[in-house]
Amino acid sequence: MALVEFLAVNDLERLNRRILACRACEAAGYIERAAPVVAGRAGNRMMLIGQAPGITELEIRRPFAGKAGKELFRWLASVDITEADFREQVYMTAITKCYPGRVAGGSGDRRPSGREIALCRPFLEAQLALIRPRAMLLVGGLAIDRYFPKRSLTEIIGNRFEIDGVATIPLPHPSGASRWLNGAANRQLLTEALRHVRAEWERCVPKEHDAVARVQALG
Ligand code: SF4
Repeated sequence: MALVEFLAVNDLERLNRRILACRACEAAGYIERAAPVVAGRAGNRMMLIGQAPGITELEIRRPFAGKAGKELFRWLASVDITEADFREQVYMTAITKCYPGRVAGGSGDRRPSGREIALCRPFLEAQLALIRPRAMLLVGGLAIDRYFPKRSLTEIIGNRFEIDGVATIPLPHPSGASRWLNGAANRQLLTEALRHVRAEWERCVPKEHDAVARVQALG
């Protein structure tokens, strides 16, 4: 392992320990229980930024382990990316790392507040600095807002952007909570976005970690 990579591994492990030990939002009374979810490894060249873990992710302590994850991996399968390869090759994080709880009196998960986002921001900044992704997938409104504030999904889904040299692809949230995906035109935008994901996958991921390339190699 090259020295730079070795240092990155150690730095990432140190950062992960700090994130896992964080109880800031619980101490401030914003959430009931701080239980941060971290996943990924130094060497990942793609990064996914979601909103926050859900209840299933809290229990399993793995990103996109619940219903939204099933839909996300169904989308990815449509461009021949397997869940196993994706989990191995993509650093998966979120705007806030802990389950925010349910909406008071409602059925869905609560959107983390600006204060929670601000408390967790240094962790995300540190993850970005250590991973230095070549491509980023922004999943859902909160992650998209970080880079494209006040832009509608219809304006930006289906496009590939370049932000400080990082290929950036916004995706709608796969939780099913939003009705945005009900429209045929919007589903077409999702198809376009997934095409961009596939192109970035081919640029960032070594062929031996791609199921399609492995099958082609067999002949
Ligand atoms: S959401 Fe972030 S800042 Fe808040 S407790 Fe969890 S790790 Fe800490």
